[in-house]
Amino acid sequence: MMSRSFLRLALAGAVASGAVLLAGLPAEAGKAPRTVPVRLLALNDFHGNLEPPSGSSGRMVDEHGNTVDAGGAAYVATHMKAMSDKNTIAVAQGDLIGATPLISAAYHDEPSVEFLGKLGLDVAAVGNHEFDEGYAELKRIMKGGCHPVDGCSPAGQWKGASYDYVGANVLFKNPKEKTDALAGLGKPGQVDKLLSDWGVPALPPVSVKWMNGVPIGFIGLVTQTTPDIVSSDGIKDLKFVDEVKAANVASKVLKLLGVKAQVVLMHEGDQVTAGQSPDACSAIPGAGNRIATQVDPEIDVILSGHSHQAYMCRVKDPAGKERLYSQGGSFGRVITQVDLKVDTKTGDVDRASVVADNQVVTRTVAADPEISTFVETWKGRVAPVANKAVGKISADITNTAAPSGESALGNLIADSQLAATKTGGNAQIALMNPGGVRAPLTYATSGAGEGDGVVTYGEAFTVQPFNNLTQVVTLTGAQLKTVLEQQFTGGPNNQAFTKILQPSANFTYTYSRSAAWGSKVSDMKIDGAPVTDTQSIRVAANNFLVGGGDAFLGFRDGTELWSGPLDIDAFVDHLSKNNPIAPPATNRITVVD
Ligand SMILES: [Zn+2]
Repeated sequence: MMSRSFLRLALAGAVASGAVLLAGLPAEAGKAPRTVPVRLLALNDFHGNLEPPSGSSGRMVDEHGNTVDAGGAAYVATHMKAMSDKNTIAVAQGDLIGATPLISAAYHDEPSVEFLGKLGLDVAAVGNHEFDEGYAELKRIMKGGCHPVDGCSPAGQWKGASYDYVGANVLFKNPKEKTDALAGLGKPGQVDKLLSDWGVPALPPVSVKWMNGVPIGFIGLVTQTTPDIVSSDGIKDLKFVDEVKAANVASKVLKLLGVKAQVVLMHEGDQVTAGQSPDACSAIPGAGNRIATQVDPEIDVILSGHSHQAYMCRVKDPAGKERLYSQGGSFGRVITQVDLKVDTKTGDVDRASVVADNQVVTRTVAADPEISTFVETWKGRVAPVANKAVGKISADITNTAAPSGESALGNLIADSQLAATKTGGNAQIALMNPGGVRAPLTYATSGAGEGDGVVTYGEAFTVQPFNNLTQVVTLTGAQLKTVLEQQFTGGPNNQAFTKILQPSANFTYTYSRSAAWGSKVSDMKIDGAPVTDTQSIRVAANNFLVGGGDAFLGFRDGTELWSGPLDIDAFVDHLSKNNPIAPPATNRITVVD
C-alpha cells in the first residue's frame, strides 16, 4: 500500500513549487512554532562541467519524458537561485572535481571549487574522484595554498573551498596518525572516546549546519571501492571502510552533539531503467540501496551519487520507517530539492513532511550573468592551450568496443604508451584500461576548422583527462596471462566480460568465451613470437592499472617499476609524430567460442 508520505513524494514532481505543501502549521500566537522548514538543494557528480556538457552528457530526460539539453554552470546558478529560499542548505554528494574538462583540470579544479562556493554550497561529501590527485591535493583544495608543482593559477593564491568536505568512512591506516578532522566539532573528549575503537578519521566525518534554530547533521560517505578505482599512490595512507558501519558511528557522533535531524551525503548509488523520469524510483537495488536501507534509523534522508543516475525512492530504515533515497544524475544536469520539517521540541525530522523533487537544469532559462562571466574568464585563460592543434585524424577514431572488446581509440592509446616508454622504460608491450578512454575523436567536429580532422590539445585531453603517469613493470609470461584472465570479472560461470584491456599493436592473443574461468587466454605473442610462462616482459600501462586499478591485481606482482611521461603527453606526442593518423584495426585479440 502506498503510504501518505510516498504519495506526497510522487506528487512533488507534478507540483511546480512545493510551497503549498510546505507551509508550516500556523503557529499559535505567542508560541514558538512546533516545526520549522528546511530546504536542501543537492548536486552530485558535477565533474567540473563549467561549460554546458555536450553530446549525451548534456541531455536529460525530464519529468514529461522529453529529452532536453541540460547542465552548464551558468544554468545551474540560475536554477539554484530560483529554487533557493531562506530555509535553504546547499549540499553535494561527491565527484564534483576529478575527471573534469580542461577548463577546470588545467588548474587542478580550482575553478570548479570556486564556482561551487559562489553557488552557495555549504557541505559536500567526498567522492572517489576527489582523490584522483591524492589525499594531499584534496587537503590543499579544502584548505588553500598554491599547487606544489604547478604553482598558483592565473587567479592567484588558492583560498580553499568555502564549503565543508565530509567523509566518515575515510580513515588513516596508521592508528597513531594525528588528525585535525574533528577540530571544531564540539565535545572533543567524548567524540574521541566514541571514535577510539573505530579509527582515526582522515576527513571530518560530519558537518552540522543550523537552520531556523535547529541543527542539521550531514554525514559524508564515499564508496568503499575507492581504492580499486583511484590511483593507489595518492591514497596509500588511507583506508576506505564499510559505509554502513561508518555512517552508524557518525550518526552516534551527531547524537552526542545533540543533532537528531540527520542527512547522509553518499557517494555510492544504484542503476535505473534507461529513459525513466528523474522522479521515478525503480532503482535497481545495489550498493546504494544496501546502505540506504541499513544505516541507523536515526538517519532521515539519504542523498546519493556515483552512478550518475536520477531517481527518487523511498526505502525502509531498519526500524521500518520510510526515508528518502535519491540521486540527481550528473554533470550539473539535475538539482534535487528536498523540503522537510524539523520538530523544534525533539530536533528530529518529521519523516511524513519530506517532499522531494529532481529538477532538470534546463538551458531555456537565462544564464546567470555573474557565473557566465566567470566561466568565460576561465575559458579565455585556457584557450591558448585548448585550441592548439596537436595532430590530425583521417577518420573518426572511436572508443566503441568491437566484439573482441578492443576499440580503435583504446588501441591507439596503447600504441602511444608503448612508444613513450620504449626508450626509458624498455617497454615491450602496452595495455590500456578501456574505462580510461573517456571520449571519441571525431573527424567532423575536430579542431579549429570544422571537418578537417584536426585534433586540438583540448580534444586530446577530453580523451585522456586523468593526468596519469605511464609506467612500466616486469611481469613473467605467466603473470601477464593472470592479468589477462582478470579481465573476465564475472567468475567461473559467467561468460560476461566488462574490462578488456586495450593491447598495443605488437601484442596478440586469443580468448575463449566458453573456456573455464582462469583458462580463457591462450596463444599470447609479442611481435609474432610466442610468450613463455617464465619469460620476463616489460609491460607499459598507466599508474592506475599498475597500482592494481579496476581489480587488475596481477599488476601488483610487477617488479622494476619505471615511471615515464603523463598519459596525455604520450598521447599528444604520438598524434603529432604520426600526422595524419588512421584508426587502428581492432584485430589484436582473437575471440573463439
Ligand atoms: Zn564516483
